[in-house]
Amino acid sequence: MRNLVLVLGDQLDDRSSALDGFDAKQDALWMAEVDEESTHVVSVQPRTALFLAAMRHFRERQRALGRTVHYTELDDVDNTHSLVGELRRAVKRLRPSCLIVVEPGEWRVWTALESAAEELGLPLEMRVDRHFLATIEDFRRHALGRKQLRMEFFYREMRRRHRVLLDDDGEPVGGQWNFDHDNRGAFPKAGPGRLPAPRAFKPDALTREVIAVVRRRFAKHPGDLDAFDWPVTPEQARQALDDFIEHRLPEFGRYQDAMWEGEPWLYHSRLSAAMNLKLLDPREVIAAAEQAWREGRVELSSAEGFIRQILGWREYVRGVYWLKMPDYADLNALGADQALPWFYWSGDTEMACLRDAIGQTLRLGYAHHIQRLMVTGLYSLLLGVRPAEICGWYLGVYVDAVEWVELPNTHGMSQYADGGVMASKPYAATGKYIERMSNHCAGCRFDPAKRTGDDACPFTTLYWDFLIRHEKVLAANQRMALQVKNVARLSADDIREIRAQADRIRANDGAPPAAGGQLGLL
Ligand code: FAD
Ligand code: SF4
Repeated sequence: MRNLVLVLGDQLDDRSSALDGFDAKQDALWMAEVDEESTHVVSVQPRTALFLAAMRHFRERQRALGRTVHYTELDDVDNTHSLVGELRRAVKRLRPSCLIVVEPGEWRVWTALESAAEELGLPLEMRVDRHFLATIEDFRRHALGRKQLRMEFFYREMRRRHRVLLDDDGEPVGGQWNFDHDNRGAFPKAGPGRLPAPRAFKPDALTREVIAVVRRRFAKHPGDLDAFDWPVTPEQARQALDDFIEHRLPEFGRYQDAMWEGEPWLYHSRLSAAMNLKLLDPREVIAAAEQAWREGRVELSSAEGFIRQILGWREYVRGVYWLKMPDYADLNALGADQALPWFYWSGDTEMACLRDAIGQTLRLGYAHHIQRLMVTGLYSLLLGVRPAEICGWYLGVYVDAVEWVELPNTHGMSQYADGGVMASKPYAATGKYIERMSNHCAGCRFDPAKRTGDDACPFTTLYWDFLIRHEKVLAANQRMALQVKNVARLSADDIREIRAQADRIRANDGAPPAAGGQLGLL
């Protein structure tokens, strides 16, 4: 055999550069399902099922093109359940002259494949991932010589380079680059009204097979597979895109940051997993949103707000990841040293906002950006959870989680563990933020305005405790100056009470069975 083309679970791109020059007579594809990928962090059942279902559909598409696919299934008796173990077995049997793969989405996998190829004495050709609009090298060039990285500058560069939402003179349409201030609306008190249900994809026979395997093998991992309705093929992913553009994009901009109890999808696209698995090309998504605006079907603030997430944030976080790894993952700028609260694995807490966000996360493998950043992420930041523990949680519980996108968002943007590479200041807030953006507080036994006392909101207590604990570091950050100044207004008694109440919260959060391992998940 000439080339063995390795296809990883998040590389299901029919137009992948790994397939350039593929000759069905001399080359073959290789794919492997292994337990390791669902257990190195505890992966919720919908996440594992989505990856495996999409992989098996990719295998069938390739076989239909007359290509040989060597594929290990989870239940195969000889499965070693590690990617490298399976690669070793395949190479021994097939004796290829060369291994080809597209740039993996995790440092761990990239280095493991390089070491495996060396050990096997085979050349490994690592090809550029054309799915992204900016290459790893493009981002390095962007970062070169800059003292500080900021998404906004990168985003403007990308808009210009790819001619997105520009007028004929090359200036941003609508006269400004960013409509962020129009993207922060909350729902009226009466609620969001009738929400357009996202298009659901009923599992076909192949997906049902996967669901049965996942249920059996990962019975202790959280997740509701009866509710599984994610797109698992490029056709379905395109239908999901059309459905979003028509029914939810018009209100996406206004309610991008809003939350509502019991409503997981609101006006969000649910397209991250389809894009991250490479079932959907981000260029197609961006073009569809721009076209909807040009045809007058949506306002510019919605189209721009949505495009910014994909052309801006999504490409930016990938750039940061590959620029800063591997040291990035070990940073702990705020010296956070607490265990992940046990209820992150059950949702069993009196805090209504966390109960709702964690509950839907464990059940569906989904929460939208503000739930991740300003509920689960905020609580962990204020409490001071060890970055590796909270990152492990985020990597396992979301259907769209792959490390290149999960790590900068969690470690950097949400936990400020990188000391300001991703975000210019920590996203620290009291429960009042959650009260403003949702209806959670109305049904909660805590009061978001109170920082001490039996009914004080733990977010509010921990916010003040956070400012007190990190006063010196935060005071050096101009963007935090106003917030930190308020600490000086506290009396010695106030500080003592806040700190004592924060200690009680920490003791309580760490008490019952802590972390996935102790819940018997591993
Ligand atoms: P929408 O709200 O409809 O947004 C549209 C698209 O924009 C998304 O599909 C996504 O591709 C992109 N996008 C939006 N924000 C970001 C962002 N900050 N970074 C990268 N892309 C973005 N996203 C992931 O894809 N995988 C992750 O593992 C992940 N982990 C996160 C962890 C934390 C702590 C935070 C704060 C954010 C994380 N995000 C992650 C970003 C964002 O929350 C999700 O992309 C989004 O919620 C997915 O839902 P959606 O497709 O309905 O998105
Ligand atoms: Fe969350 Fe605090 Fe509001 Fe309760 S009062 S829902 S804990 S922010």
